[in-house]
Amino acid sequence: MKYDTTTLEHGSTIQCDVCIVGSGAAGVTLAGELDGSGLITLVIEAGGAKYLARQQTALQGEVANDSSHTTPDMYRRRMLGGATSIWGGRSQSSPHFADFGVA
Ligand SMILES: Cc1cc2nc3c(=O)[nH]c(=O)nc-3n(C[C@H](O)[C@H](O)[C@H](O)COP(=O)(O)OP(=O)(O)OC[C@H]3O[C@@H](n4cnc5c(N)ncnc54)[C@H](O)[C@@H]3O)c2cc1C
Repeated sequence: MKYDTTTLEHGSTIQCDVCIVGSGAAGVTLAGELDGSGLITLVIEAGGAKYLARQQTALQGEVANDSSHTTPDMYRRRMLGGATSIWGGRSQSSPHFADFGVA
């Protein structure tokens, strides 16, 4: 079941066994692992299903070295999926690929 908290009555209570805050990679992975466990799992997401610039204000900040990254509101997302909803366009090799079965 999906709720839009902007339409819930103030003071409403939603019962659950596990409450996961944030629907980014961590939250959704955890929810997926709990699926079928019998536990009533609630995922709370601060943003909406679509990107809205006004939702990004909570992510504003400064970076110590702006040559490698822009400010956090530019590369994180306050929306369903969190930071997985954007891609920076960079691919890097990793010495740890073998850990995932990729030579
Ligand atoms: C441009 C870019 C490229 C990337 N490329 C890669 C890559 O190639 N490979 C890789 O492995 N990783 C990559 N990453 C990193 C990866 O996307 C992040 O590490 C991962 O998405 C982090 O997941 P998370 O769930 O911890 O946090 P987030 O994705 O930040 O999710 C947090 C969620 O919680 C919500 N939230 C925050 N506070 C609250 C609150 N109080 N109440 C309710 N909801 C809240 C937010 O709105 C957000 O949806 C990249 C990241 C970026 C930004």
